[in-house]
Amino acid sequence: MIRFLDNKLFRYFSVFLFLNSVILPVKSSSALAAWAIKTNGVLELRTKSNTNLKAYFQKANQKSGDRFWVDFPGELKNPRTIKGNGPIKEIRLGKPNKGKTRLVIEFNEETYLKPLTWRIVGIDQNRWRIKLFNPKNRFKMIGEGIVEKKKRNFKVNQNSIPKKKSDYGYFKLPDVKQNKFLVVIDPGHGGPDPGAIGIGGIRETDVVLEISKIVKNLLSGKGVKVRLTRKNEVDLDLPPRVSFANNTDADIFVSIHANASRGKRRDINGLETFYYRGWRGRLLAKKIQKQILRVSPGSPDRGVKQGRFYVIKNTRMPAVLVEIGFLTGRIDARRLEKTTHRKRLAYAIAKGILEYLDKVG
Ligand SMILES: [Zn+2]
Repeated sequence: MIRFLDNKLFRYFSVFLFLNSVILPVKSSSALAAWAIKTNGVLELRTKSNTNLKAYFQKANQKSGDRFWVDFPGELKNPRTIKGNGPIKEIRLGKPNKGKTRLVIEFNEETYLKPLTWRIVGIDQNRWRIKLFNPKNRFKMIGEGIVEKKKRNFKVNQNSIPKKKSDYGYFKLPDVKQNKFLVVIDPGHGGPDPGAIGIGGIRETDVVLEISKIVKNLLSGKGVKVRLTRKNEVDLDLPPRVSFANNTDADIFVSIHANASRGKRRDINGLETFYYRGWRGRLLAKKIQKQILRVSPGSPDRGVKQGRFYVIKNTRMPAVLVEIGFLTGRIDARRLEKTTHRKRLAYAIAKGILEYLDKVG
């Protein structure tokens, strides 16, 4: 387990950065949609999707108490101050400069805070949570707007049967024609080749094998035939992976990998999906990329790209290579070491595949 805030800078001033690919234009309205400090001392935020968040902490000085603030893109309309209670002195919403919104939480003097343990957790594409304090006495919630509001899906398919509310679109896998498709899943590396080695010794080969097996089960459950290029820790060269897919006449080929950055930079995180050629490969890549991003809030979207990797260049069917995050990255590694996150990623990959098969197959 790594400390999220092991940044020396933090001792004095600022901390965590969340970068995402979409940066709103200066003129747009504030990306902050709602916020609340709950009775348990947790700050929850709802923002526009793919928002760039920057958060800072500053120790008390002569002028003010301890302050925590978050900067959002987009300009705030009405700067305002809201009275706090308990350990919170006040909350200020302002525009530090043009095109920005700043939410400042100022604490009372006697508050004992442990900012070194703070972590901003992305809980959805547009929701964030950070535990700021443990209330000693009753703390009354402060907030504006509804933080729990679900992101609306504006693309409503007219032909689709209305779904029950309990069907969480998020984890619901689409149906496809039974026994029609064959998918080859290729867990990268294996055996003596562990692939990338990340923070705390986490190995690419282990992560991608576990995810691949879950993807297989999920797809099988939907009546899709799945073959894995490897089922355990064996050394498998690239040509046999390709010929396996070509010989089985698979409909699609999906190679699953995890990334490492040169110099093991912890500030490099993000997900990307490669295809080699053709609109089918590109579409498959787009579907998968979209889904894996949904389960990896806060991790940058490095996009759908053309790549010349051997396994996607030489397979005859639409083929993609998915990079599910950086094992060397502070945000990604922390997640990839958890089975819960691996399951979410497997769901996302399966969903992208099924959406593709439903559309093209
Ligand atoms: Zn790899």
